[in-house]
Amino acid sequence: MKIRIREDARKYYIASSMGTFINWDWANTMEQVQGMVLEVETEYLFKNQYNTVPVPGVSDNGLRIMDNMVSEVIDDEREGKARCNWCGKTVPDAPMCFKCGRQGYMESFSNRYRRA
Ligand SMILES: [Zn+2]
Repeated sequence: MKIRIREDARKYYIASSMGTFINWDWANTMEQVQGMVLEVETEYLFKNQYNTVPVPGVSDNGLRIMDNMVSEVIDDEREGKARCNWCGKTVPDAPMCFKCGRQGYMESFSNRYRRA
């Protein structure tokens, strides 16, 4: 699963942060990755944000990218799956989490995933 960072990521980040706090390190990071396709860490998926794998020369730990910075989701793996808000894992969409066995913590990705 991959995400394409919007071409105007730096500008967009700054514009969307106007009136609040602008993290200039983050703005510069966005400049480095804008337009790039980044691999997503799929063990822990979210509805509205993505954790990438390490990006050489940019971030050793990967980046947390919000949905509005993404222009395209490639091979979205969220269809038919859910996030368990107890253990945080990405699991098949069902009433019970098959990783931790708990019920009532499942947050379905259905009709929230984006078509590439
Ligand atoms: Zn769980």
